Amino acid sequence: MQSATQTAIGLMGGTFNPIHFGHLRMAQELAESLNLDEVRFIPAANPPHKSADLISAEHRAAMVHLGVSNNPTFTVDNRELLRSGASYTVDTLLSLRDEFGKEVSLTLFMGSDAFTKFNTWHRWQEIIQLCHIALVQRPLTASNKEVLPKVLETFLHNHYTENADELHESPSGWVTMQQITALDISSTTIRDSIKNHHSVRYLMPDSVIDYIQTHKLYR
Ligand code: ATP
Ligand code: MG
Repeated sequence: MQSATQTAIGLMGGTFNPIHFGHLRMAQELAESLNLDEVRFIPAANPPHKSADLISAEHRAAMVHLGVSNNPTFTVDNRELLRSGASYTVDTLLSLRDEFGKEVSLTLFMGSDAFTKFNTWHRWQEIIQLCHIALVQRPLTASNKEVLPKVLETFLHNHYTENADELHESPSGWVTMQQITALDISSTTIRDSIKNHHSVRYLMPDSVIDYIQTHKLYR
């Protein structure tokens, strides 16, 4: 068993197209409730079948940098952008383990919408051997009813803990669910608002809005 003083790092993966207060508030609240030393924001590279409105990884990463810049607990990890080809979370975790070792507690953050598809991720069953998972509920709208596949119900049953302290006592293997302030903000609605010339103020940091305007993104 590891000592409770072992470093614990949160991993906030996403496309961040663009980053918004839903991401930032989730990271802040999980950092506090799970007693994390650091939260690494890991922008995903451009997937092979990229959607029409997925802007370049460089722009998305630049906005993540702006978004986290005044928070000493938050850092940006560019390893998925530096790797060529498809970027799989399992590879990112292996690379983090190479860098930080086997002992450090790593916790991957996931919204409920992402988790319902977790069993489709590349080598998904290996992921829980490399990190913990912290789940948060994403506000539900009529169009995103979330149904958990049976295989993920079993996965939850096998790995779930109510005691978040467990995540400090081992480097990987637990799934926890944490209550956070529900913010019904998504990058999709932000992109739509910009396209429709509506304001996105108070949904994301001003510095990110300025960047989007300067670079004429999402129009
Ligand atoms: P898009 O609409 O383009 O899919 P998004 O807002 O869903 O963008 P992502 O980059 O896809 O943002 O999300 C990264 C991670 O953050 C996912 O695990 C997702 O579930 C979570 N997340 C994003 N927004 C919220 C939110 N408002 N509340 C809780 N979790 C969120
Ligand atoms: Mg999403």
